[in-house]
Amino acid sequence: MRRFLIAGNWKMHKTVSEAIELVRELKNLVKDVSDRDILICPPFTALYPVSKELEGSNITLGGQNMYFEEQGAFTGEISPLMLKSVGCSYVILGHSERRHIFGESDELINKKVLSSINHGLIPILCVGELLEERENGKTKEVVEEQIREGLKNVNKDAEFVIAYEPVWAIGTGKTATPELAEEVHLFIREVLSDMFGNEKASSVKILYGGSVKPENAAGLLKMENIDGALVGGASLKAESFAKIVKFD
Ligand code: 13P
Repeated sequence: MRRFLIAGNWKMHKTVSEAIELVRELKNLVKDVSDRDILICPPFTALYPVSKELEGSNITLGGQNMYFEEQGAFTGEISPLMLKSVGCSYVILGHSERRHIFGESDELINKKVLSSINHGLIPILCVGELLEERENGKTKEVVEEQIREGLKNVNKDAEFVIAYEPVWAIGTGKTATPELAEEVHLFIREVLSDMFGNEKASSVKILYGGSVKPENAAGLLKMENIDGALVGGASLKAESFAKIVKFD
């Protein structure tokens, strides 16, 4: 019932010319894929040229972050209207790098989530525990709080995606085992069910992120509550991202 969503988070990589080169190659490699959704999230500076390359393709476009206001004196920020104007349909919010390097709070992330929905963007709310939190048995507590706070006042009819990204698995080569990831995904769905009811909870896509590669994608994606992947490093090469997209 839930369609797979394979998303690439390019983070702070790729100049405009590098981005165009990557997207041209990728477009060609995945052009026959129609049974799952494909999303790429390049840096802001590459969004417009990449959107031109994507016209008529099966790849959708998203931002990696945004501010919640529409416009104003917010130097260095990008608004939901701006993301929409360059063809974005998704936006990644609350990524662990935003939380831990730039100090974003659940409260700020919640404002962004509400604003993105109000402007017709689909937020991908990222949650996940630090290594220390996992070792102290706090994984579920941390993830539940991030979900409840991040989705506060969100209407149950709104479309949103959750990405579970254990911080210790991001860019470290240490992937969560499929069983360990599934346990948290199932727990997230239970929290969503408590917040929004069973029907809504079973329709929400929950992606896994953290060192997803062509070699481990299929094992993760066969788990019942893993509905896609949020891929960092391996999305920077067309061939490896295409392999993940085409997992079977
Ligand atoms: P890596 O795939 O490089 O571990 O990054 C995961 C991530 O943070 C995606 O948002």
